Amino acid sequence: MDPQDWEAFRADMHRLLDQCVDQLHSARERPWQPVPDAFNEAITIPDQTTGEHGAVMDRLAQDILPQTTGNTHPAFFGWVHGTGQAMGLASELVAATMNSNCGGRDHGAIRVEQEVIRWLCATAGWPANTGGILTTGTSQATIYALCAARLKRFGAAVRTRGLHDMPRLRVYAAKGAHSCVVKALQVMGHGTQALKQIPLRDGQMDLDALREALRQDRDAGIEPLAIVATAGSVNTGTFDDIAGLARIAHSHGTWLHVDAAFGYWIRLADAPWRALADGMEEADSIALDGHKWLGVTYDCGACLIRDQAVHRATFAERPEYLAAQSKGLAAGDWWPTDYGTELSRGFRALKMWTALQTHGPEVIGAVVTDNCKQAALMGALAEASDLLDLACPVVSNLCVIRPRQGDPAALAAQLQLSGEAVFSTTTLDGAPCLRAAIVNHRTTSDTIRAAVTALERAVATAPEGGALPAGPA
Ligand SMILES: *Cc1c(COP(=O)(O)O)cnc(C)c1O
Repeated sequence: MDPQDWEAFRADMHRLLDQCVDQLHSARERPWQPVPDAFNEAITIPDQTTGEHGAVMDRLAQDILPQTTGNTHPAFFGWVHGTGQAMGLASELVAATMNSNCGGRDHGAIRVEQEVIRWLCATAGWPANTGGILTTGTSQATIYALCAARLKRFGAAVRTRGLHDMPRLRVYAAKGAHSCVVKALQVMGHGTQALKQIPLRDGQMDLDALREALRQDRDAGIEPLAIVATAGSVNTGTFDDIAGLARIAHSHGTWLHVDAAFGYWIRLADAPWRALADGMEEADSIALDGHKWLGVTYDCGACLIRDQAVHRATFAERPEYLAAQSKGLAAGDWWPTDYGTELSRGFRALKMWTALQTHGPEVIGAVVTDNCKQAALMGALAEASDLLDLACPVVSNLCVIRPRQGDPAALAAQLQLSGEAVFSTTTLDGAPCLRAAIVNHRTTSDTIRAAVTALERAVATAPEGGALPAGPA
């Protein structure tokens, strides 16, 4: 499977690398475009292949490389998609060359992951004896964190007896908390009914309603497993009162988990945004993403857990073929497989390390601050517009807009297809809206102005209330 001619391989790789750098360099001119009709046929894996490396590299460059999600473009505001750092290209190249298996053992990649985790814990405001593990994203991290909370509450018997002797459990999260919380409870065997959605007051979990729910559950014999604070809600960008939730969790002897998928990085922003994440340092666990606001290439998240003994006790399982040794490759006292469900895993840590090594807290914080200012600008433009309304206050980097006419989903599709901007949609108070989540270092205030102007133009020609005709093909 190695190239027959390494010099030809080298030349082909150089050409491919140039094509990748060219595409990244011109990312500002490359919005999302629909997948061409001929694509599926072009990517069909043939029964017979020649094994010719250069020919496949041409296919990579010509067929695959242009078909992006569009999130590398400055006017991509949909969902919460990171745009990526150019240095991701460098780290992916090195990681692919090394092909490290980061389940455990004693080699360089493991030390890099430990260093990244150390940095993340310190930036969360946690003491030195804390830790965690890198994950595919916040969804996986949430499962890990809630499993650790469960082990802390019920001990190691959970691992032998399963759910057999367990009382009914409850996890409390604000209305609008991300679906990864309920998915975690489903995967863990507790089901959707284990999630109690607490109403909001001023965009934050209502602390009195939480206390009341805890009291009612206690009277009904339902055990509190964890309180989940949302640090950056996916719908509106609001932050729960994390310090207030920490006090309640503490007084009930309950675990505090923080979903900080993108909000973690607001700790590096300027005032006043920075204070939104105050209280995160009190959490028992934090889930965060590298692939959103930090711009680590997909996928990369982290699960931080304050009590590393509990974290390890939740997952460690060492059969004879994984025995640790005191010398050689099987040495090393930190094996990631002891802290999660995966054994074989890639060198995700290198992407995060490279991102943090290249751009320190000041640069990252400046991007986060800029994006929050841009969301505020978009909100102000929407408020000033005769065609748009601001659907809710802009708190961080999210702006939700209600067009005065036209169907938001059709308007979003029209702007996506024209290449002018990618908004996604949501529903607030029963009304469909356009939603922008800005986690993009390529976005500028001019990008925001142009996108709002494009949106106004689309709204102006939209049929009142009804659906739009299909956008330009
Ligand atoms: C994106 C997101 C998640 C899910 O994270 P993944 O990395 O996509 O698994 C959870 N919570 C919030 C607030 C998010 O924005």
